[in-house]
Amino acid sequence: KRNPERGLVAFSAVIAQATQDARTIEQGLRQALLRGGEISIVYQPIVGRDGRLARAEALARWTSPTLGVLPPDRFIAVAEQAGLIVELGRHLFGLICDDLEAHPDLRVAINVSPLQLRAPDFVSSFVGELQKRRIDPSRIEIELTETVVVDDSHLAADRLRELRDAGFSTALDDFGTGYSSIGYLRQMNFHVLKIDRSFAAQIASSPQATAMMRSLIELAHGLYLKVVCEGVESAEDLALVRRLGCDLAQGYYLDKPMPMDAFAERWLSQDIA
Ligand code: C2E
Ligand code: CA
Ligand code: CA
Ligand code: CA
Repeated sequence: KRNPERGLVAFSAVIAQATQDARTIEQGLRQALLRGGEISIVYQPIVGRDGRLARAEALARWTSPTLGVLPPDRFIAVAEQAGLIVELGRHLFGLICDDLEAHPDLRVAINVSPLQLRAPDFVSSFVGELQKRRIDPSRIEIELTETVVVDDSHLAADRLRELRDAGFSTALDDFGTGYSSIGYLRQMNFHVLKIDRSFAAQIASSPQATAMMRSLIELAHGLYLKVVCEGVESAEDLALVRRLGCDLAQGYYLDKPMPMDAFAERWLSQDIA
């Protein structure tokens, strides 16, 4: 039998638990930003058609003394809601700059939250940090999700122009999820299109997904965009996305995200010399 009230009680219990979790994560995050050392970056290779490294996507990790290792999906949204994302973003950028300084051959792709982008000094604060450390912005690609474009397309267009003028590369991330509009692609002037991993997950079994991916890649090339296919998990996936014209690939088959020491050893061979 259905009991709507029971359902409601259970539902609010779920919400109460989620609120509690968010508060615990928020407090822990504030501590982590004060203390330093708990938050780190792992790197995953993005590989060209020749199999060589093009750049590495920088992905945040947090090892909390009380909560254990938390993936970004657990703490980025909390940081956004708690008003901590700008500070967290700066902290992460500092860590990435440390690695760029230490490894002259390293190029990175960085994830930026819509709220970070909204800060008026977003581009200039990044540029200032890079100048201080003598790091060339062309070594950095800024990945933005389409929510940025949908929420405020004027702001997004302005920021994209600023980033471009400052010498950064820009990528539209997770394309194919949410509101993906082909119109935005034309308007927005990104350098790179990243096709969401949900596509790669389907192409081996679905002719429709394959046709869509092929068309998307053609369309992107028509707009002078390079295409990264995410979620390449097998040799078969890799062969397929390459056959469809994908310029760059990323996924567990190529390598998993890992700390810089391991990454440098496996992917920055020039470092060894
Ligand atoms: P994303 O930007 O789409 O990053 C790719 C995610 O896919 C990463 O998860 C990566 O570990 C995972 N992945 C890579 N290859 C494969 C594969 O072959 N198969 C599957 N199933 N997954 C794969 P991760 O590290 O847990 O990050 C999750 C999301 O958190 C990211 O999605 C990004 O939106 C966000 N994020 C990560 N680091 C940062 C950051 O520093 N700042 C901000 N604002 N967001 C971040
Ligand atoms: Ca990304
Ligand atoms: Ca993505
Ligand atoms: Ca994502």
